[in-house]
Amino acid sequence: PIRPREELDAVDSVCPYCGVGCALTYYVDRSRGAIAFAEGRDQPGSKGRLCVKGRYGWDYAASPQRLTVPLIRVDSSYPKGPLSADVRGDADNDRGRAGAGGNRSGGGRSAKLSKNGKDGRRKPGGLVDYDEVLPHFREATWEEALDLVARRLKGIHAEQGPGAIAGFGSAKCSNEEAYLFQKLIRAGFGTNNVDHCTRLCHASSVAALFEGVGSGAVSTTYGDVANADVVIITGSNPTANHPVASSFFKQARRRGTKIIYVDPRASTVSEHADYHCQVKPGTDVAFYNAIMHEVIRLGLIDMEFIRARVSNFEELVRTVGDYPPERSAQITGVDADLIRQVARVWGEAKAGVIYWGMGISQHTTGTDNARCLIAMCSITGNVGRPGTGLHPLRGQNNVQGASDAGLIPMFYPDYQGVDRDATRRRFEEAWGTELDPDRGLTVTEIIGSVLKPGGVRGMYMLGENPFLSDPNINKVRKALSQLDFLVVQDIFLTETAEFADVILPASSYLEKEGSYTNTDRRVQLGRKVMDPPGQARVDWEIIQDIARRIGLDWSYASPSEVFDEMVGLMPSYANLRHDNLGLTGKLYPNADPEHSDGTVVLFDERFNTDDGLAHLVPAQWLPAKELPDAEYPLVLNTGRLLEHWHTGSMTRRSYALDTIAPIAEVYMHPKDAADRGLAHGQRARVRSRRGTIELQVRVSHREQLGNCFIPFHFREAAANLLTIDEIDPYGKIPEFKFCAVQVEASGVG
Ligand code: SF4
Repeated sequence: PIRPREELDAVDSVCPYCGVGCALTYYVDRSRGAIAFAEGRDQPGSKGRLCVKGRYGWDYAASPQRLTVPLIRVDSSYPKGPLSADVRGDADNDRGRAGAGGNRSGGGRSAKLSKNGKDGRRKPGGLVDYDEVLPHFREATWEEALDLVARRLKGIHAEQGPGAIAGFGSAKCSNEEAYLFQKLIRAGFGTNNVDHCTRLCHASSVAALFEGVGSGAVSTTYGDVANADVVIITGSNPTANHPVASSFFKQARRRGTKIIYVDPRASTVSEHADYHCQVKPGTDVAFYNAIMHEVIRLGLIDMEFIRARVSNFEELVRTVGDYPPERSAQITGVDADLIRQVARVWGEAKAGVIYWGMGISQHTTGTDNARCLIAMCSITGNVGRPGTGLHPLRGQNNVQGASDAGLIPMFYPDYQGVDRDATRRRFEEAWGTELDPDRGLTVTEIIGSVLKPGGVRGMYMLGENPFLSDPNINKVRKALSQLDFLVVQDIFLTETAEFADVILPASSYLEKEGSYTNTDRRVQLGRKVMDPPGQARVDWEIIQDIARRIGLDWSYASPSEVFDEMVGLMPSYANLRHDNLGLTGKLYPNADPEHSDGTVVLFDERFNTDDGLAHLVPAQWLPAKELPDAEYPLVLNTGRLLEHWHTGSMTRRSYALDTIAPIAEVYMHPKDAADRGLAHGQRARVRSRRGTIELQVRVSHREQLGNCFIPFHFREAAANLLTIDEIDPYGKIPEFKFCAVQVEASGVG
């Protein structure tokens, strides 16, 4: 029976999915121990709104597939070992390879992936076949599992040195958990090999922002769009990825803000936009250089701002001089007149702001792309005032906070460089131990390191699923399955957990307290709604128990105590405490959280760089690393759907979300589909130089001719079997948005 609202417990919390961080209230029926419904709460960044994920996507936590007891591997032959000596043509290889090549039982593993693909859709909740995997593990006590983790990681550390240990944290964890995890790896194992999925989303944006304006965070909020007369939304489909932020953009448009949408794909945002510049994928630098060329030629720059607050303008002028609209039109496919028109609109804006997504960052030129956006704002004086600024729309609910908390290999908390002596000494004093003076390896570098002699041998994986989320996953699987020891802490048996030596059952977002920082720099409290199932435990306690076992003297009593220590080392978070975050959270920086919501617009007087200036870094356009050719003639773009989240371990176990979007599809331009004899709904085979998947065709007018799009949520048609693992040289982010593929009829109905 559905109980009336008055009989339900109301718990105020925050949505656990995207970086918008909508405030919500869960209504809990304690008689059933279940959430009855969720409702949006008023907060400056969400105003009571929720998208379908926030409103309906919480039942994953009650899935019968939750891990409830520690597990220890008993069968070392399953499925560890490389999946294939030859990773080309994964599906074909897998079918012909079961048991071959001395690969212990890797063949069975990949054959299952392929078989699931033929089914077209998995059984609800059946991402990983528990019946197949669990017999290779045995249940253990927490004492036994934690002792084994500490003993094995300590052993690898002692025998092979600190560089043989690495940790992947998670942007789904709280600030406190991220802080403790990076502290454990740094202080406990003496290495900076600690990173998380920021490496896969906005690492290039952060690299460019840090270099350009001295801060990796946004300079204004998405709500500030209301004060802009022009907004550029680029490389982003906010309706799918930041749905509630998208509603702010659309409302601003109705009130008169002009929207310039720059993206290879059409979307519902392009339908609301005044201008849609449908650039060819991977041509952003050429497009923005042409815009700046025109803005400068028309004299629409802000010379006063440039003289006072910008460095290296002359070099930028020289570089963009090579990009007249006619030349850029040839590269980008955008009509030269449209480039001129958009340049004038941007140059004449009294207040202009740029919001960008992973279409900008997930390229081997991702840092260059973001450098152009920084220059676009800087030369027109569009920073430091209401309605102006730079905003990379952060993906995960806590990717901003996890990065702020130091879950990255080059920075301690608050982006304080590990290679700066004075900084390191301060952290050594605070943490009572000697620290590694060298930058650690990134997520993408750790994968490569495992395959090399003297590389990483032991890993602690907290809530990440690189066996599905990283590029070229056959290579990832080959690498990580060769580790000497892998411990995975998660709430489900993920694709990564299948390869673990020890699996620790963790808590979902709904089962713990902690703070989370959204894309706006808003720090909010997530509150406990229910107890973890079975013997599952909250993550910060598990991290602390491992820390104690490797000899660290930790005795935190609560997340709030962890937060206080962390804030003491993070000037940006100064003055924040759990007990002054209130029900709607606070923006940082915040001089007076008791009375103020915090600072919306940064850099009103100076940038955070050492000299206070914005540093322009001009960029030349470079083509993507793998261009289409006769064998692989289409460009593949990957991304998210509105209803699903990343590797799907949560949303594919949500009844409502999985019912709305149950299958993987390849989105194709009608002519590309017709040229291949493919009809809407027909099954197709998509292959790249790295693998092959089978999935259903969706004929879509949103795609450009010569391009296709596949969401990366689906194990049975894993888009990242196809993607390329080339990385941006600065941000080390992979080129998820561009690789060459062929699509053809699979013959499987
Ligand atoms: Fe959750 Fe993002 Fe949707 Fe808000 S917009 S409800 S934070 S997924």
